[in-house]
Amino acid sequence: MLDRFNRKINYLRISVTDRCNLRCRYCMPEEGVQFIPHSQILSYEEIKEVVEAAVPLGIDKIRITGGEPLVRKDIVELVRLIASVPGVKDIAMTTNGMLLHEFAAPLAKAGLHRINVSLDTMDPEKFASVTRGGDIRRVFAGIEAARKAGLSPIKVNCVIKTASDEPDALAVKAYCLENGLQARFIKQMDLHTGEFGIVDGGSGGDCRNCNRLRLTSNGMMKPCLFSDMEFSVRELGVRKAIELALSVKPEKGTVNLHNCFHNIGG
Ligand code: SAM
Ligand code: SF4
Repeated sequence: MLDRFNRKINYLRISVTDRCNLRCRYCMPEEGVQFIPHSQILSYEEIKEVVEAAVPLGIDKIRITGGEPLVRKDIVELVRLIASVPGVKDIAMTTNGMLLHEFAAPLAKAGLHRINVSLDTMDPEKFASVTRGGDIRRVFAGIEAARKAGLSPIKVNCVIKTASDEPDALAVKAYCLENGLQARFIKQMDLHTGEFGIVDGGSGGDCRNCNRLRLTSNGMMKPCLFSDMEFSVRELGVRKAIELALSVKPEKGTVNLHNCFHNIGG
């Protein structure tokens, strides 16, 4: 499907939960997060129905994100359901890696093709501080398990403050080079002020070539990360929600006062 600006939209990013086992400083406050009640979260059957309706409209690439997707119960089953939809060519996931060691093999078996693991620094203490309690050894173990499971490519998402030649970013880049991983640098963004930047090694932030729609865990179809607009798949039906999101997809992102990274998926 093409949007008003002739961009081909074939990529749907699905946030499966707004919950997370970390509290990264740039993403979530330490305490007092208002989570979406479980009753409002789309079931796996509903997510599959969204994918089934989206594929005939031109979606063939799916990313599962969160919150942290691996904290949602039976996530492997969701991958299996999505992989069973004819026409889905590519299934990816973005994870913080804390539980990847355990899940990499079953996810690959269920049909996951590739994975992005978030890692902003190589310094264990700094990692624990940025994520408010994360254990960097789990990330490395998760990446190793992903490699063994045949997930490919393995990309590393590294959030940078200003430039991709910051010391932490350079260390992550060196680790990726040594280990055959693809580094993606993402400028730290602020949805509420509309500050966003081009991602090195990825397609995010490049509005002219944007190919994506987003589905939140409570079933809102969104045209853009930096937009307040959203359309309920439950109330409107999937097809209508997609058509409306497509029809208002902005030429360029502005601000999103409505969402935070942990509930839209980054
Ligand atoms: N929990 C998973 C993870 O951390 O990979 C998936 C969800 S997370 C919201 C997706 C991506 O968004 C991560 O790579 C994370 O680093 C990035 N992210 C979160 N907050 C951000 C911010 N303020 N600016 C830029 N990227 C951000
Ligand atoms: Fe959780 Fe990912 Fe946000 Fe960190 S970036 S708090 S891991 S959702």
